[in-house]
Amino acid sequence: MDHSSCPVCGKPLTQLYKLRFNVYRCNSCALLHSDAEFEHSFESDLESTSRDIGLKQLRLANFAIIIKELQNLKASKNTRLEGLEIGCGNGWWLETCRANDIECTGIEPEHIYEHYHKENGLNVVYGFYPEVSPAKKGGYDFIIFNDVFEHIPDINTLVESLRKDLAEDGLLVINIPMSTGFFYRLATLQHKLGQNSNLTRMWQFNFHSPHMNYFNEQNMKLLLEKHQFGCLSVLRLNTLDFNSIKERILADKGINKVKATFMTTAIKVLKPVIVNAEPDIKVFFFRKK
Ligand SMILES: [Zn+2]
Repeated sequence: MDHSSCPVCGKPLTQLYKLRFNVYRCNSCALLHSDAEFEHSFESDLESTSRDIGLKQLRLANFAIIIKELQNLKASKNTRLEGLEIGCGNGWWLETCRANDIECTGIEPEHIYEHYHKENGLNVVYGFYPEVSPAKKGGYDFIIFNDVFEHIPDINTLVESLRKDLAEDGLLVINIPMSTGFFYRLATLQHKLGQNSNLTRMWQFNFHSPHMNYFNEQNMKLLLEKHQFGCLSVLRLNTLDFNSIKERILADKGINKVKATFMTTAIKVLKPVIVNAEPDIKVFFFRKK
């Protein structure tokens, strides 16, 4: 793959720094881009039980915000909404849809959650989009990415496939971390001071599926406009549930309890700053023009 020009605006990329992989920046649209590769041999080192405690409540609260906006924007549709989630992971979004009388099929390359999907009667197809995508006559009412879009190498080909699979008035929903967010900026500052671990973690360079791109609001819209999608709304989502920060921090196997306690306290002290800062996650709603 070519890493010399920006996948959003086509202008040249400049190397910013090297962690496990190189990170480049577009001087024109400020996209951050990496030359990371998907590694099938890698095992994720997240402790799944503490991750679940820390993450589930937060995820569900964010999903409730997305569902509400989806229903607002599709209020004119009388029949049941039918959607597709690309990279459905554990299936929490699919469960949220079912609880809200929305039909949604998931596509997932990994089989680690297959047992959970089956046990809970979730509709999941295994493999990569668009190869295994179940065709829907008339197209989907919505296609959603929850923390997945930033992992995809060829975003331009992807968006063209999405155009084909969406209904004429279908919505593209992208829930994604932002390069302008408080924690990303903090990690960048730490990197400048010689501490690389947080920035490596933000890019997920130690996981088998690292981030390929880090967007801000403007270049996210620019990418979709290039493919004739108009932005209907952008909402801020929460990164932290202040009641379960410690579980989140402990979910990383590399961290000890003393350090986790210290970080938890530091984050609680900083709460007023964090909740008023630029959000670390946003969700975008686009429609075909
Ligand atoms: Zn660019």
